[in-house]
Amino acid sequence: MTSRRSLLQAMALLPLASACALSPTTRSRNYTPSGLPLRRVIVSDARVIRTIAGLRPFRSAGFVVKAESYDDKIVIHNYGHGGGGITLSWGTSHLAMELALQTSHRRCAVLGCGAVGLATARLMQDRGWDVTIYAKDLPPNTTSNIAGGQWSPTSVYDEAALTPAFEMQFEQAMRHAYRYFQNLVGPKYGVRWISNYTVSNNPPSPENFNDKYADMYPQLMDLTPDQHPFAAPFVRHYDTMLIEPAIYLPAMMQDYYAAGGLIVVREFTDRADVLTLAEPVIINCTGLGSRDLFDDEELFPIKGQLSFLLPQSEVNYILIGNGIYMFPRSDGILLGGTFERHEWSLTPDPQETRRILDQHQTFFAAMDDPWA
Ligand SMILES: Cc1cc2nc3c(=O)[nH]c(=O)nc-3n(C[C@H](O)[C@H](O)[C@H](O)COP(=O)(O)OP(=O)(O)OC[C@H]3O[C@@H](n4cnc5c(N)ncnc54)[C@H](O)[C@@H]3O)c2cc1C
Repeated sequence: MTSRRSLLQAMALLPLASACALSPTTRSRNYTPSGLPLRRVIVSDARVIRTIAGLRPFRSAGFVVKAESYDDKIVIHNYGHGGGGITLSWGTSHLAMELALQTSHRRCAVLGCGAVGLATARLMQDRGWDVTIYAKDLPPNTTSNIAGGQWSPTSVYDEAALTPAFEMQFEQAMRHAYRYFQNLVGPKYGVRWISNYTVSNNPPSPENFNDKYADMYPQLMDLTPDQHPFAAPFVRHYDTMLIEPAIYLPAMMQDYYAAGGLIVVREFTDRADVLTLAEPVIINCTGLGSRDLFDDEELFPIKGQLSFLLPQSEVNYILIGNGIYMFPRSDGILLGGTFERHEWSLTPDPQETRRILDQHQTFFAAMDDPWA
């Protein structure tokens, strides 16, 4: 018995081709479409290593990318990415860069040193601009460090507020971002392709996001019960990228410094304060900070909190659904599932922590893991 379990456990570390001793049904339902074993997350209070909260910078009408003139200065906005700011960072920054390139200048200030500010700064450097980042907080103390890091351009706007003009800008940003991140796959930037499973009690709606943009969701498929190990009536699979902020953001800072960039730690109080900067072009990537700096009252926080369990290197898929999500990162197994609108507190709510842990525990206890 023990030796059979040891054999199974050893095989779980190997790709599908080596798992010939398992029955064909077990083989397919316990592996991702790319052939990696689907292992259970061990959820217990004793394995929790930290619980944190962050504020998604959300606007119902979506992010803002546009240029404004103030006397001799041009301010280009690039903020308000909601729950998709890591995902979209290179994309909206590409659009902001295109606006900057329409000016005759070659020098800019980038306000903010989160994922959006860093992507913007790198793109401007690559076009030969002289760039200085100004920010009150640097990684690891930005919202971008709190992000889960799934490449997923969702929770970015409210469907009811969507306009055709924004939808077009959104799709452009999404497509640029999808392409840029593929250049960063690998250990240096902490970006990798990974299987995603979305589980639900209901079938996917006919107009769902994944189907609409299916070319950006490889291996998109609805699975029958014999094709997955989860206790859920509806399960959908696709691959996407996982970006680990604790690796990605320092790597971006390193690239920025290596290209001659300068970072100045400074807090701005309002627009007039920003306009005292010497640079002729100012690219505003201050996330939620734009609410006060540029009087954008449409911008508000959506609080999210996360509990991390000890890492499990054998867990290699993302799980989302029924109010919870799990991302397997090298700095811990991330468990999430809260979206509190207009909540400014950064203190985790103990009741939500309990709910997140209990729901994940129930879910993974019901998962079939033949190697456990
Ligand atoms: C729990 C949670 C999970 C998430 N998961 C994901 C995910 O899986 N995928 C994804 O794509 N996104 C995710 N997000 C969303 C993502 O974190 C944000 O959209 C993104 O971090 C926004 O990046 P940013 O650079 O605009 O803002 P920030 O990272 O907040 O950076 C803003 C910068 O501006 C500076 N700044 C602000 N105000 C001022 C001021 N007055 N003066 C000077 N500097 C200022 C700050 O110091 C900081 O340097 C998640 C967010 C949360 C909270």
